[in-house]
Amino acid sequence: MRKLCHCGQGMSLDFRVLIFEGVIEIDRVPIFECEKCSHYEVLPAVKPDLLALLGELKASGEQGLVLFNEVNELADVMFSIFRSWNQTESPSFEVLLEQKCKERINLLLDVFGCAKEMNDGEWMDDISKRLSQMSDFVNNSQFLRAN
Ligand SMILES: [Zn+2]
Repeated sequence: MRKLCHCGQGMSLDFRVLIFEGVIEIDRVPIFECEKCSHYEVLPAVKPDLLALLGELKASGEQGLVLFNEVNELADVMFSIFRSWNQTESPSFEVLLEQKCKERINLLLDVFGCAKEMNDGEWMDDISKRLSQMSDFVNNSQFLRAN
């Protein structure tokens, strides 16, 4: 997955810890980082969710480390591919991502079925939120379309 930096260099996908106001640490955030000027930006697809999480953490006064991939399904799928991805042998990151996103959506739909059967409203809400994180990306992804 690549993107162009404002300096003209290519940017590549990476994960990093972001620290807000010195007290809130969010790790495993997918970012694009420039190979030349060290400029980076949060992956646009997860930005609204990251900001929402930050708002919640601020409001609750919680401090310490949060793993972003535990609250965002897309980041989780990307992180698991990223960790095991071998650039020379595997299919492209985008192909893997599309495939894994579809698998994850199917899994979540199964889990949603269980939650519904048990009449667990809170669980259903959690799963719907995770499903929308994935399906928004799959339906609107500029990367999947561009590639
Ligand atoms: Zn740059």
